[in-house]
This record gives sequence, structure tokens and C-alpha cells, in this order.
Amino acid sequence: MKLIESHQALAQWRAQVSGPLALVPTMGALHEGHLSLMRDARRRVDALGQDAELAVSIFVNPTQFGPNEDLDSYPRTLQRDLELAESVGVGLVFAPKDPKELYPHGKKTLVRVSELDLQLCGKHRPGHFEGVCTIVLKLWQIFAPDLAVFGQKDFQQLAILRQMHRDLFLGGEIIGHPIVRDTDGLALSSRNQRLDPEARSHALEIFSVLNRVQARYVAGERNAARLLDGIEQDMAHGEVEYATLVDAQSLEVVQELAAPTLLAIAARYGGVRLIDNCVLGAPS
Ligand code: AMP
Repeated sequence: MKLIESHQALAQWRAQVSGPLALVPTMGALHEGHLSLMRDARRRVDALGQDAELAVSIFVNPTQFGPNEDLDSYPRTLQRDLELAESVGVGLVFAPKDPKELYPHGKKTLVRVSELDLQLCGKHRPGHFEGVCTIVLKLWQIFAPDLAVFGQKDFQQLAILRQMHRDLFLGGEIIGHPIVRDTDGLALSSRNQRLDPEARSHALEIFSVLNRVQARYVAGERNAARLLDGIEQDMAHGEVEYATLVDAQSLEVVQELAAPTLLAIAARYGGVRLIDNCVLGAPS
């Protein structure tokens, strides 16, 4: 497996790739969720043709962090990440040492997908999705991948990136990958490393709530207020930022469920911000 740290060396590497290329962008501190995306990408790109390559980027992107967010304390575990990436068949890791590799002139150019970014996390993290779109567009320009895999854990991010991909004719394909959970149901996240044992056990409230609402939905309830009834109390150990039902396409709040609906939750446990979701009424 090759490690590249500069934008220039990456462009040279890209020029000599002759087969199909898959990309999995990450911020590192890799866990089984990331590895599952990589295995999926490997399988898909191998199916596209000979000399297929799988590339992973590891970059804690400063432009997607707000001034009071956890950019400095975000976990960084590059050596371990490299071993894990190699174990699932990654051929190239791009891990720029210096943000200037990707932002040589600072953040003068930013990309925004409107409307979708006003909902959910967008309300609480101003500028976050501009940072995400900007970095993914940069990576898309450099890698020109045939496919890139993103997780449905970041449902809003995936929806916004799909919109950008369509609107800017980026080529290749975006693939969404299901949420990977720990055995007890907690959605895997690099930030879970920062949960102390008590906060981690309390954070399971999120998964319980997802299951409870899903059970009500399966039992026939379609009214959003009744589906959500009592869930703030059910997450009493956390600070709930939002717990809401939104249309899975527009991400706008719904009162009565008709089309596929996203149950989206963001909450802090022990000071660590966690997000999770599930889709109700998804076509099977
Ligand atoms: P991150 O390193 O947190 O930026 O995540 C990199 C990619 O992995 C994103 O596309 C995430 O949606 C995805 N991802 C992170 N955690 C999970 C998970 N538990 N299940 C599925 N995908 C995930």
C-alpha cells in the first residue's frame, strides 16, 4: 500500500492509474464502519474492470469545524489507520500532513448546496456542510473517481453530496453505505473513542429510541408527534440537539408520515456530539 502526503504526488499517482478507481474519503481514526465502506468500494471497483484501484483519504478537514468545535481534540491515529486500510485491500492512502496541501490559498473558494443545508445539523453547525462540500469537491477533482462510497450514518451529508454531484456533473457515482453499529447498537463513530464508560452506556439511549419509534411505526402509527412522544425523556442522560422526523428527500419536518421519512437524532453524551438515524417506510 502506498502513502502519499502531497497534492502534487497524488496528481502524479492518479495520472498513471489505468483501471477504474474507487475513493473512500475519511477523517481517519478508522473503525469497522469505515472498513465496511472500504470493503464495499473494493468489491464494486473490482467489478468495474482490470487494474482497479481503491484509494482512501485521511484528512481532518478544518473548514467543516466551527470555531467552538472539536478540531483540535479530534482523534488522530494515522499509523493504526494505515494498517487497517491495508488489511481491507486499500492500494493508496492520501493523508496530507499540512492542510495547505488542500487549501493552498486558505478558504477563498467554498461550495454550498442550498436548502438541504438549512435542516438538521445545518441549523446547529453553520458552515459545516460548506466545508464538507468544498473538501469533497477538491478530492473529486484530484481523484476523478469512478465511484466514491459514503456512509448513511451521515445521512444529511450524503443527501447534500448527491445534490452537489448531480448539479456539478461530477461524473462517476456516489454510493451510500448502511450504518455499521457496535454489537450493542451504538453507531460506530471516531468520536466514540472520547466517550467515558458511563457516557458510552448512556449513549445507548439513542439506539433504544430509534427502535422504539420504529416499533410504533411498524404498529401503524403515522402521526409524527405521537411517534416522537416521550423520546426526550428517553434520552434523559444526553443533551438532545434534535430528534425529529423529516422527509427523506427534502429533509423538511413532516407532521404525518406518507413518504419515506428519516428519524434523525443528534445528542451530546459526556460532552461528545453523536448523530444517528433510521429511515421509516424505506422501499425494501
Ligand atoms: P468520517 O471519518 O467520520 O468523516 O467518516 C468517513 C465516512 O465514513 C463517511 O462517509 C461516514 O458517513 C462514514 N461512516 C462513519 N461512521 C460510519 C458508520 N458507523 N457506518 C457507516 N458509515 C460510517
